[in-house]
Amino acid sequence: VSGRAELLLGLVHAEPAITRTEAGRRLGLGTGAMTDLVSRLAAAELVSEGLVTPTGQPGRPTRPLIAHPAGPLVLAGSITRESWRLDVVELGGRTVTAVSDAHDGYGRPDCVISEMRHAIRRLRRRFGNRLAGCGLSVPGTVRDGHLLDASGLAWRDVDMCALAPAWGSFVLENDATAAALGEARRGEARAATLALHLRIEGGLGGAVVDHGRIVGGAQGLSGEFGHLPFGDPQVTCPCGARGCWGTAVDGTALARLLGARTPRRPVTYATEVLRRASMGDQPARAAVDVVAEGLGRGVAGLVNGLDPDLVTLGGLGIDIVTLAPRAFGASYRAGLMRFRRADPPPVMAASLGVDGPLVGTAERIWDLVLPGLLR
Ligand SMILES: [Zn+2]
Repeated sequence: VSGRAELLLGLVHAEPAITRTEAGRRLGLGTGAMTDLVSRLAAAELVSEGLVTPTGQPGRPTRPLIAHPAGPLVLAGSITRESWRLDVVELGGRTVTAVSDAHDGYGRPDCVISEMRHAIRRLRRRFGNRLAGCGLSVPGTVRDGHLLDASGLAWRDVDMCALAPAWGSFVLENDATAAALGEARRGEARAATLALHLRIEGGLGGAVVDHGRIVGGAQGLSGEFGHLPFGDPQVTCPCGARGCWGTAVDGTALARLLGARTPRRPVTYATEVLRRASMGDQPARAAVDVVAEGLGRGVAGLVNGLDPDLVTLGGLGIDIVTLAPRAFGASYRAGLMRFRRADPPPVMAASLGVDGPLVGTAERIWDLVLPGLLR
């Protein structure tokens, strides 16, 4: 019976406001069994029934199953190169409340960590034992609660465990990996069997999501696609390798193409070049075309190798493809194996946009805490 309760809880989380009838159909349970199950989850303050929605169809109206108003919550946080944010998220993924602040944390992680610690404490005072865990996404490589390297922030080997609360689970995730999970659970890739998400910010990252689960790798370091050798072998990447793809599609690539010095803040620089290109600046447009070609070639290589249903792009990747659709499209198709060209996997903008990492982080922490709620 607890197996059924867990399945129903998972269903209400994955598809908030699913009707009682539809949930019963999916779980293969009759009306009586469903009534018992919903009563149990309601008594445990996990699931509640919403107002009857008219279906316009004959038969008894059915009620949507939603998060209990006194139910469990998780904290989902994200740090970007210019701000931090903490959302309190209920079952089903809705944000109940959010706090955020700008930071100039460039090279100064202590200030950001201290501000977020205070915010977490305040939220704990407000929501008490309803908070079940805390997840955080950061713009860099992550291992064992450490942020190994965040080039966009100039943070290196920062112990993020200072943000782990004493009262619940904690998970630290790379922002591109989190965005990939968000897109697979609540975005464009919901129906995908195997989805590839790529995100360009300070570097190029991403993840493969297989049936709604991140393909993490042995140490959780999978997804560093920006360090595949699709770039110029004469260029040495900050990671130490040569010819990394990321160095061919990011702000440093645009600077090289425009004959400018390596920018200290590549994302800011890339954003500025993209803005100029969108205004019709010819050198900027030509540089964006070259970068779009490099992006298309690499995406084709990954499609050949991984066989995804679709590819979603996040961060600056969307702007690059939007500004140079022809350069990207031609290079993508040319890089595909011939048999794939008639019906290539679509490459589309990630629908969650800047919220992607946060949505995915909430999913990561819910995955950890959901099974424990019924014990
Ligand atoms: Zn590299």
